[in-house]
Amino acid sequence: MKKRVMIVDDSRLVRVQLGDVLEGTDYEIVAYCRSGEDAIAQYDEINPDIVTMDIIMQGMDGLDASEHILRKHPDARIIMVSSLAYDDTFERAKAIGAKGFVDKPFHKEQLLKVFEQALS
Ligand SMILES: [Mg+2]
Repeated sequence: MKKRVMIVDDSRLVRVQLGDVLEGTDYEIVAYCRSGEDAIAQYDEINPDIVTMDIIMQGMDGLDASEHILRKHPDARIIMVSSLAYDDTFERAKAIGAKGFVDKPFHKEQLLKVFEQALS
């Protein structure tokens, strides 16, 4: 059975790119969210195996949204996918309980590797 992925990103281009990269893999995208608020609202119902989470979005950012989701669902597997690759961002993501970090622009192999690690 395919693993169910929820994509959170305010960029339509990135959502399309992630969809393309996951096409034909063991993962299927079950939800697209455009904001942190949307992700929080949908997580309960969707209950995905993996979440890819953008950081910079209008309104609540991806770190705050992740913290919110992980407080309620400590076993959530959230992968930050962001160009905000700074040490303090890594540290905060880790402290919150994110399962991985993928830099933008992302590569398919790297993304799938981080997914596998998060699921193992
Ligand atoms: Mg963004």
